[in-house]
Amino acid sequence: MPHLLITGGGRGIGRALAENGLARGWRVTVTLRRGEPPAGAQALFLDVTDRAALDLAAGRTGPVDILINNAGIIGPDRQDPLDMDFDGFAELLQVNTLAPLAVTQAFLPNLRAAGHARVLSISSQMAWMGYAKADRIAYRASKAALNKVMQGLATRLEPEGIAVALVDPGWVRTDMGGAAADLSAQQVAQGILELAEGLTLAGSGRFFRHDGSERPF
Ligand code: NDP
Repeated sequence: MPHLLITGGGRGIGRALAENGLARGWRVTVTLRRGEPPAGAQALFLDVTDRAALDLAAGRTGPVDILINNAGIIGPDRQDPLDMDFDGFAELLQVNTLAPLAVTQAFLPNLRAAGHARVLSISSQMAWMGYAKADRIAYRASKAALNKVMQGLATRLEPEGIAVALVDPGWVRTDMGGAAADLSAQQVAQGILELAEGLTLAGSGRFFRHDGSERPF
């Protein structure tokens, strides 16, 4: 049974992913900052922007078959190109773009130890370069940058047999997505875990939807 590690597993999509993994009989570890982990999951209490905490946690965790970089924030109220909260934008980049790379680097020994490990990072349709929208531009940019970083990481890790891909979960009912969203976290968790489980080097560096179909960057 695979060992699944999820960042931000205390609520939202991350918690649903953990619960779905546990229901499959997988070994599940979640990172969280507060609260209770899903029953049966191992918990690592940390902030994903804290590299020292990540290194410590990785040292206490065995081989990891599947890493899902899920933790993320929507960012500040002011993120219009003409009215930008620059501190908030910087925090968005820290959490949504730099942290997934730092998490993957910290747990690389664990991924290497598993053999043929997979890394899936939760991106967003809002990263799509085909839109010229101006709303939430900092969030959009943080996810577009995440896509580029993970695409490059996929190229670097391919010789080691580690597959790295991105997933757009759709619009999901969580604290971030809000009550009007059309998908439940449980619905998308099912598809995302199937995608992660079936991910091979052929899919590395690519961007998928939660139903497993490929989507444009
Ligand atoms: P939620 O706001 O419900 O949950 C966010 C999660 O990220 C929480 O577990 C939170 O932990 C964690 N987190 C945030 N910042 C940090 C940090 N600095 N260190 C550690 N953990 C942190 O969001 P969703 O579940 O909706 O979103 C999950 C992912 O999916 C995000 O990457 C988001 O951008 C993406 N996404 C969501 C969509 C949606 O419609 N919901 C659409 C497209 C993408 P804590 O409880 O400690 O705050």
